[in-house]
Amino acid sequence: MSEKSIFTKIMEGEIPGDIQYEDDDCIVLKDISPQAPVHLLIIPRKPLVRIAEMSEADQPLIGKLLWIAKQMAAQFELEEGFRIVINNGPFGGESVPHLHVHLLGKRPLKWPPG
Ligand code: 5GP
Repeated sequence: MSEKSIFTKIMEGEIPGDIQYEDDDCIVLKDISPQAPVHLLIIPRKPLVRIAEMSEADQPLIGKLLWIAKQMAAQFELEEGFRIVINNGPFGGESVPHLHVHLLGKRPLKWPPG
């Protein structure tokens, strides 16, 4: 079995994390190194590694993550807009091999990204 990710360790209470929401499918954490005034991570409990490794059966779970991101955007009052990001692999900027959705807001965000 592969090693537990940092996010699984937070879910299991092995290491601390600033948890904003949790249910049977996912948790929402404040990012430890925020890139915007609001920077949350929506993370499935299932240790999916990345989008490139999702299976067809994971579609409802990925949809759920986006649904929770939308709910968090409302809860954190991101009416002026927000960005949802999923980094995949080295060129995508992925640093933690446990799928997560970034939700960023409360400042204008540039496009294209760096
Ligand atoms: P990635 O680069 O894989 O898309 O995003 C990983 C994110 O996890 C980064 O934004 C990073 O700041 C965040 N992160 C890494 N370690 C921890 C941690 O221990 N706790 C929390 N809350 N966030 C973390």
